[in-house]
This record gives sequence, structure tokens and C-alpha cells, in this order.
Amino acid sequence: MPKPLIDSHGRKITYLRVSITDRCNLRCVYCMPEKGVNPLSHNEIISYEGILRFVNVLANHGVNKIRITGGEPLVRKGLADFARSLSKITGITDISMTTNGTLLEKYAAELYNAGLKRINISLDSLKEDRFRQISRTGNLKDVLRGIKLAQKTGFNPIKINTVLIKGINDDEIIDFVNFAREFEINLRFIEYMPIGGNITETITSKEIEEKIRSAFDGFELISGNGYQAVSKEYGFKDSNAVIGFISPLSEHFCGDCNRLRLTASGKLRLCLFYDSEYDIKEILSGERDDEAIFNWVSGLIQLKQDKHNFSEKAKKPGSLLWANDFMNGIGG
Ligand code: SAM
Ligand code: SF4
Repeated sequence: MPKPLIDSHGRKITYLRVSITDRCNLRCVYCMPEKGVNPLSHNEIISYEGILRFVNVLANHGVNKIRITGGEPLVRKGLADFARSLSKITGITDISMTTNGTLLEKYAAELYNAGLKRINISLDSLKEDRFRQISRTGNLKDVLRGIKLAQKTGFNPIKINTVLIKGINDDEIIDFVNFAREFEINLRFIEYMPIGGNITETITSKEIEEKIRSAFDGFELISGNGYQAVSKEYGFKDSNAVIGFISPLSEHFCGDCNRLRLTASGKLRLCLFYDSEYDIKEILSGERDDEAIFNWVSGLIQLKQDKHNFSEKAKKPGSLLWANDFMNGIGG
């Protein structure tokens, strides 16, 4: 029986988030600088073959869940073939993708047929002009069409990811809840994390939850009440919509952390909030066999911290700007 990946705090690693590109067709204010970042060159970006080899090794040691992210994953060519190859890896039972949804109309059917069945679509405003203000370049109608088409294609579940920013879109909380209720969809409010951007104030899940509770009767917790649950989910008596809260800052879920991240440049990252990275391209390029790669990863995960201290850093204004770490390369 192959050994599982267990870190020094007894946490079993079963989940890998893979950023397949640092490029994006949007420039969201909280994620990327306005001019974009210097994109990785073809040689710098990790190849699909490299990712597949790495996933194959990890899948043999208990990793069963992969999330494809970016940058915008739909801007990288060959994604459907990559998803098809991932879905054939023994042990990988759950493949999902996070996308901004703007190109979904074009690719939804192809991806679904390739084996991708779960999708998260980011949406930060329901007002056209504000959507453009936040994404700097995007068109709300493209995303809404993408969501409808994803529903029609059969993606299930479809989750909408919404980041609220004080003074920019936090007046849309009730509109978002009504949107989720109308489309009977799962919408999750993700706490804004001041990484790389220039906005430092975060609106907490608790503040959002209270606003919703005061507007809707029967808004009740349905799952995730456990200590350190990743997402707390609430439902309504009169709708199938689900509203989730992901609170990496105010209620971090590090005690149950089961994840690793692979960046678009092929670096393994043990935690979103710690900037140490380890080059897997170098490891894959040598003569190492699968066991040696496993041993390398297994050794590294012993360095995983028991919990992040990001909210402590957040209390010190100006201390959060990690010059080179924009979310697009890490994958959120
Ligand atoms: N381009 C895709 C998208 O926007 O869904 C995938 C990559 S994006 C980096 C992944 C997720 O990270 C998105 O839901 C986005 O809203 C979220 N994100 C990016 N920067 C963030 C930040 N500073 N705080 C919280 N969430 C952030
Ligand atoms: Fe692009 Fe996603 Fe970042 Fe927006 S959040 S700039 S869509 S990678």
C-alpha cells in the first residue's frame, strides 16, 4: 500500500490546486496590477506533461482532488485535452476549475465532454459598469451567458465566487443573494485577502452574514459548523440556493488543511500565505523515479506551518504588499 502524504501536524494531503497560467483576459483590481504582470514565457511555464507526471505520482499517494485555476485557465490552449488526461489518472476522483467565466460560452461543452464536471465562476458585481470597474476590462454579459450555458451543459455543482470589497461592491450583498435564489445556485462570499494589491481593508464573513440574516427570514446554517470548516453554508426555507462563506482571514481553517498548490511557473507552494516555493520543474527534469519525487514532496510538506498568521500581518498597514506575488500566478 503506497504511503500517504502526511505532514508534521498529522494532516493528510489529498488536494492539489494547479495554476496552469499566469495570464488573464481580465485585470481584477484585487488580483493584478492594471498593466498586468510580465507574463511567463513559454519556457518558464510548467508543461501539461509535467503537471500530469506530478499528479500521477501524488495520486498514487492519496491525492484525489485537483482544482485547475490560474490566471484564467481558459486562456491556455489545450485545456480540454489536459482535463481529459487528468480525468484518466487512477485515483483522481474530483476535478474542478475556477474561471472568470468570460470564455465559458466557447469552451463549456468541450470541457464537460473532457471530464470536467464541477466549476466555480467568479463574479464580483451584477452591475455592468461596476463589473468593468472591478475587472478593468470585462463584460458582465459574457459571464452571465457563461453561467447560463454552464447550467444548461450540466456542470454540477456550479458555484459562484464573490469577493466583496468595502466601498466598491459591498452594497450588492442582497442583490447577490437574490441572484443566487433566482438561479437556485450556490454562491460563496470569499473574504478579500490583501495580497499584492493596494486595497487593505477586508469585509468579514460575519459582517456579510449579519446583513443577509437581517434581510431574509429562515436563513439557516446547513453545513460547515465544525471547527475550522473551509466553508460555512447557509440555506433558506423557501429556496434551493446555498450561500457559503469562505473566511481565510477571520476564521482560518488551517487545522484541516489538506492542500498543496502548484504555481504556473511550476513551483510547489505549501500555503497561499507563505511565499516559500519549491521548483518541481527541476525535480521532474532529472532522472528521478516516482518514488524519489514522492520522497521529495513528502519531505517538503513537513515544513507546512500549522497555521498562517496572515490576519496578524493584516493588522499592520503596508506590510501586506508582497512585491512579486500577485494572485494570478499562485491561483487563489
Ligand atoms: N481567473 C479565475 C477566476 O477569476 O476565477 C481563476 C483564478 S483567480 C486568482 C481564483 C480566485 O481567486 C477567484 O475567485 C478570485 O476572485 C480570487 N481572488 C483573487 N485575488 C483575490 C484576493 N486578493 N482576495 C480574495 N480572493 C481573491
Ligand atoms: Fe484574472 Fe481571475 Fe485574477 Fe480576475 S481574479 S485578474 S479573472 S486571474
